[in-house]
Parts: sequence; C-alpha cells; structure tokens
Amino acid sequence: MAKIFCIANQKGGVGKTTTTVNLAAGLAKLGQRVLMIDLDPQGNATMGSGVDKRSLQLSVYDVLLESASVAEARVRSDKLVAAGCSYDILGANRELAGAEVEMVELERRERRLKTALAEVDKDYDFVLIDCPPSLSMLTLNGLCCADGVVVPMQCEYFALEGLTDLVNTIKQVKANLNDDLRIIGLLRVMFDPRITLQQQVSEQLTAHFGDKVFDTIIPRNVRLAEAPSYGLPGVAFDPASKGAQAFVAFAAEMLRRLPTAR
Ligand code: ADP
Ligand code: MG
Repeated sequence: MAKIFCIANQKGGVGKTTTTVNLAAGLAKLGQRVLMIDLDPQGNATMGSGVDKRSLQLSVYDVLLESASVAEARVRSDKLVAAGCSYDILGANRELAGAEVEMVELERRERRLKTALAEVDKDYDFVLIDCPPSLSMLTLNGLCCADGVVVPMQCEYFALEGLTDLVNTIKQVKANLNDDLRIIGLLRVMFDPRITLQQQVSEQLTAHFGDKVFDTIIPRNVRLAEAPSYGLPGVAFDPASKGAQAFVAFAAEMLRRLPTAR
C-alpha cells in the first residue's frame, strides 16, 4: 500500500513546494516509486518538476471532477528521468482554482482524490501531495486521503502560533473525516544557524514537540532556490549542494521512521 503524505502549512512561502519536490526526488533516488500531486493552482510543484503547466493535457483538476483517472492524467518529466531521480507527476495549473466552486454541488466532494488514488495504490510506495496555503476544499481532499502530514516550517517568531491552528485543523479532520490522519513530523527548513532567534525557536520546537520534530534540518541554500527556474528539484539540479544533501538525508529519515510510525 502506498503511504500518502500531505506537505501542508497554511502559511505561504514556508517551503512546502520545495519540500514536496525534493522529498519526491530524494525518495526516488533511494529506489522508491513516487507519485507527486500538485494541489496548488499556482502549479509551482509541476513546473519545478520539469513539466510545463500550460501544456498539461490533463491535470489533477480533471481527476477531481472525474473526467479523467490518475492513470490517464499522470505524466513523467524527461528532465527528471535524465537526472536519475524520476517520479510521476499529477500536475496542476490555474484551471484548478475553479475546481473549488465546481465541486460545491458534488456529493462526497472532499473524498474525490481519495477515491481516485485507490486505483493506483499498487503503483507506488509514496504519494506526496503539495497543498495550497489555505484550508480549502483542495487541501481537505489532500487531508482526507493522507496517512499523515509533513509540516515544513521556518524557525521564526510567529511559527509556533501558526502551528497551533494547523494542529487544530488536523484534529478536526481526524475527528470528522479521516481517523488515520496524524502529524508525521515538523521539518525545519531555510535554517540559518547563525541567527540566534532561529536556534531559540528550534529549541522551543523540540522541547514542545519532541520526536515529532525531524532530526534532519534543511539549511537555507541558494541552489534550492535556483533549481525551480531550471525545472528541477535541487536534489536533481545540484546533488552535491548542501540543500540537496539535506533533502536526501530527510528522505532516508522518512524511510527509517515509517515502519515503527505506522
Ligand atoms: P511554499 O510552497 O510554502 O509557498 P516554496 O517552497 O515555494 O514555499 O518556497 C518559498 C521560496 O523560498 C521559494 O522561492 C523557494 O525557492 C525558496 N526556498 C525554499 N526553501 C529554501 C531553502 N532551504 N533555501 C533557500 N531558499 C529556499
Ligand atoms: Mg507552494
């Protein structure tokens, strides 16, 4: 059975998409079969995986509205294949922004993605879902089918406050829609050890959340920020960079943690 994880945080610009594509590439590099789903109408994870969102024939939009299956809509990226860390992509573009409204009338609308994913479950070890920065019907579709949530966060002053909201949301979804849902872990990203405040927040995080905080820390690294403009995750773009190495280490940590975590 594929393990399905949402990469979520209701804040924008905290590193969700960077985490999703680099974890996907890292897991692929370690021999895992991965499907990456872009649930954000901005389509950054799609572009960042080397797929042009403007030329998508079918996307996650068609899957949510049941006009295509996952098997029909998923694509591969030549760039990722060439880089040796390929994963399947269920892409998104601006069309997805309309799905929210179009789904209002539909039955079981928060379970559309779950139903669609059941058909390809055997094809993958991992399904990673890049969520938009809001608690929309799109995010709800992701949370409904997920075994757990990976929360990327920057170690900044307001980070802990935002975390409380997210934890409450996950509790509600767990109580009402998906009893399997839990937080897999908090991932410290864009970390700069020279900044005292970041170290302090990082210490507070581990004090409050204990082993829910991943051991791996993703440093602030310019290669990770440059990679999307080449249509590649940092792990594929510059494997020797500190950022890429951290994400491969994170993928390995996920694999280590899972057998006991499930
Ligand atoms: P989100 O998906 O949460 O909106 P992104 O993953 O798009 O966040 O990241 C926001 C911005 O920060 C992007 O420009 C991205 O390239 C950059 N970024 C993300 N992680 C890092 C990092 N570890 N080091 C440097 N830049 C990063
Ligand atoms: Mg994003």
